[in-house]
Amino acid sequence: MAAVELRFGAASGQSEPPNRPLLIVGQLPNLQKLPWEEISGKLLPQVSEEMVCERSDVFASGCAIARAFPLFSRRSSASRRTDKRVVTVEFLLVGQNNGPIEEATLECLASAADGIRLAARIVDTPCNEMNTDIFLEEIKMVGDALGIVPTIIRGEELKEQGFGGIYGVGKAAETPPALAVLSYLPEGATQTIAWVGKGIVYDTGGLSIKGKTTMPGMKRDCGGAAAILGAFKAAVKQGFKDNLHAVFCLAENAVGPKATRPDDIHQMYSGKTVEINNTDAEGRLVLADGVAYASKDLGADIILDMATLTGAQDRDNAQSSCAGLFIGAHIGFDWPGTWVHVDIASPVHSGERATGFGVAFLLALFGRASKDPMLNLVSPLGAGTDQHYAMSEGDGGMSKRRRLV
Ligand SMILES: [Zn+2]
Repeated sequence: MAAVELRFGAASGQSEPPNRPLLIVGQLPNLQKLPWEEISGKLLPQVSEEMVCERSDVFASGCAIARAFPLFSRRSSASRRTDKRVVTVEFLLVGQNNGPIEEATLECLASAADGIRLAARIVDTPCNEMNTDIFLEEIKMVGDALGIVPTIIRGEELKEQGFGGIYGVGKAAETPPALAVLSYLPEGATQTIAWVGKGIVYDTGGLSIKGKTTMPGMKRDCGGAAAILGAFKAAVKQGFKDNLHAVFCLAENAVGPKATRPDDIHQMYSGKTVEINNTDAEGRLVLADGVAYASKDLGADIILDMATLTGAQDRDNAQSSCAGLFIGAHIGFDWPGTWVHVDIASPVHSGERATGFGVAFLLALFGRASKDPMLNLVSPLGAGTDQHYAMSEGDGGMSKRRRLV
């Protein structure tokens, strides 16, 4: 399926040449609402996927379909087919407001699908083919597509500039660690948003090494950074109103003579020092440097960090909360902006496959900062709920809260 090109379309007429197979997808109650006349012509199979849903579910449904067509091609013989195929996804809207779907909506779905498939491909690709060098190339390619040149701080420069967290985690690896930033600064922006992603391209655990059953799958430890790359590409393409920075904390947590030892003390970008007791708790170290950079150098009003941090699905919440607070401490708890910590360790994959999780989440969560009508519509902070906004508190301005978007 790697060579599948995904296209989104409005429901077309019934006279297309009958040359492609058809799959009709939808929740049962929605399928039951569909009059036979509307699909009888489709069964002369001219499209590949027919999505039946309500208008409010178009975004989620389109994103779900994107996840079903991964670009990574090493997992099955079917996915190694190189002949180019086009899958056209058409929408038949049921329920209220079920008119035809707009061109702008289809463009938004195409951008979101592109971002999801990019993120999933990066997460699925093993470290020997997705090390920090190659991840940086992926970032540059997204930059090229958007006309943005990334800022990259790498290897010994990290040490010189005080990024003891990222440097300490990645210094033992063959390809050096990096902090990379893509910045989109539109005219008229009223605030600055930074998304900070954990990009551990492989996590052996370091000297506190993982076991033979817990290490496999650790190629996915870059899921936060991958999601942020996919979401940044889609968000900028669809028009973003505020300043948006994507900050990638890239490192391979490897074993070698240069590896950080338990008991070592690192000086972090925040100015704090950290004594290491477990080299497998590396995610919070790279993110601590990333969020400190976002607040100190990028002047962010809103910082969101996203990471596969704690495997929270099979532990209690204490560990993930603790890891989150560690990261927050490096922004400083008296910082007046808004900080959001998102742990995606569980949804980053489903079985053996990356999901591209995080792309649709970020596009929707920050939908209010987008020019795109559909992203505004799906934002959980959306239409008419202005009580979420501008919670300014007194206290001499020290605890002033920003609206999220
Ligand atoms: Zn780890």
